[in-house]
Amino acid sequence: MRLILLVFLAGFCLHSIGFAQKTSSIELATKRNCGLEAYISALKQRNPEFEQMQQQAEQAMQEALMKRQEGQQGGQNLRKATTITIPVVFHVIYSTDAENLSDEQLLSQLSILNADFRRKNADAANTPSYFQPFAADTEIEFCLASLDPNGDPTSGVTRTKTNKVSFNYLNDEMKFSSQGGVDAWDRNQYLNIWVCRISDNVLGYASLPGSPASTDGVVVHYATVGAPPFNKVSSNYNRGRTATHEVGHWLGLWHIWGNGNSTCSDSDGVDDTPNQYEENTGCPSGNKVSCDNAPYGDMYQNYMDYTDDACMNLFTNGQATRMQAFLSTSRNSLYSSLACSATLRSDFRTEIVGDTLTLAGKKVQFVSASAGIRPTSYFWEFEGGTPATSTEKDPIVTYPNPGRYNVQLTITNGDLNSTKVKDNYVHVTVNDLTVYPNSSTDFITIEQPARITVRQVQMLNHVGQEVLRAEVRDRVLRVDVRNLSPGIYFLHITSTNGTIVKKVSVVR
Ligand SMILES: [Zn+2]
Repeated sequence: MRLILLVFLAGFCLHSIGFAQKTSSIELATKRNCGLEAYISALKQRNPEFEQMQQQAEQAMQEALMKRQEGQQGGQNLRKATTITIPVVFHVIYSTDAENLSDEQLLSQLSILNADFRRKNADAANTPSYFQPFAADTEIEFCLASLDPNGDPTSGVTRTKTNKVSFNYLNDEMKFSSQGGVDAWDRNQYLNIWVCRISDNVLGYASLPGSPASTDGVVVHYATVGAPPFNKVSSNYNRGRTATHEVGHWLGLWHIWGNGNSTCSDSDGVDDTPNQYEENTGCPSGNKVSCDNAPYGDMYQNYMDYTDDACMNLFTNGQATRMQAFLSTSRNSLYSSLACSATLRSDFRTEIVGDTLTLAGKKVQFVSASAGIRPTSYFWEFEGGTPATSTEKDPIVTYPNPGRYNVQLTITNGDLNSTKVKDNYVHVTVNDLTVYPNSSTDFITIEQPARITVRQVQMLNHVGQEVLRAEVRDRVLRVDVRNLSPGIYFLHITSTNGTIVKKVSVVR
């Protein structure tokens, strides 16, 4: 329960540093600090569903964690997830040349993320020996997107010139083109990282899993991006660890001291980080004991503390497990993103809400939903459909006769192609409730149309006695009348449209 409550407290985190406005020299703060409460209350006001969405993401993640633990007890090693490579897009928004960071500087940031998350950081050796056993290779990697949301080539960087001196973080200004920023790319396929000058001297902030799609991602102050020699700002935060910390939040991590006020009674939801009273800043040395964490004290080397870039160097195994669990639940679609690939993948759906049940003779709108490289041609095959084939992107098809039909879509671009087949994908029913034959020796068939659902069929004889009753689970029901005496019967068919009565006869 404590964990769920903390979601509301944690939400988003902001780090602040004293950047002088509109000057080339940057005034350093002596420590990071966090403006999360202001941001959370702003977001709550803006989006009333925010709390519930985050709660659901946390719950799904906890269930995934429990399954993993059960799997481990059963002898399976489920802790290690498949290595994931997350496509990244940097949205650089600048009003001065200094803010328009070079591709090299952005690549430097990407390298830092990869090193830190795979524990290949050069300063891994600075983790004290007593914390080394907890240090994790999270098996999470990052690549610069090579395809944009339309499937066209991209450098993985968007650049937008703005007249704004800085962007307000309380309303996510940098994430909306209508406010001088850049709209998010599909968060199911990309990690959006906005790079700009953030208002109120904030260093960076991130959205936790379960946040609204339009604002999902990480924002970092341009002065924190990458490391020297690419990062030319003299600061304690010029080695790209702000992004490491914020991506940690984006994958569901909280601050190592538990986010709340200075107290020992809150938690970061991770078992192998020491309980910690409050944040550490600057570059501490030796053991800083707080709460009950003697003899080694706070793990102030953790990326989720507030220490200087040069003094943080690890995520723990518990933090890695938590991030992986979010990647297997609410951020799961990133596993199948093709945004860093040179391939394409065919897929499609229909505009029929809920399922693919339709009436004979009715138009069905198909929609291609391919991923990866933008297709240059489409070839559809509609078994039982009119037309039987189509080269349109989103064709309309009619099915004259009831039945279940396969659909197949092949997409191509140059030498590349991909085919998706969905067996029995379209289920075409009769137009009206149909009962046949009127006169039968063995079976009477009842077919129901897509627009209604038959719940029960009852058969009465000519004096009103029930001779047969059936629950209906399929669109087509066959009533066995072989054991009934010859004569007149009445079928009472109860559906979402009410009850109708059909007269039938059994003959021998
Ligand atoms: Zn933070």
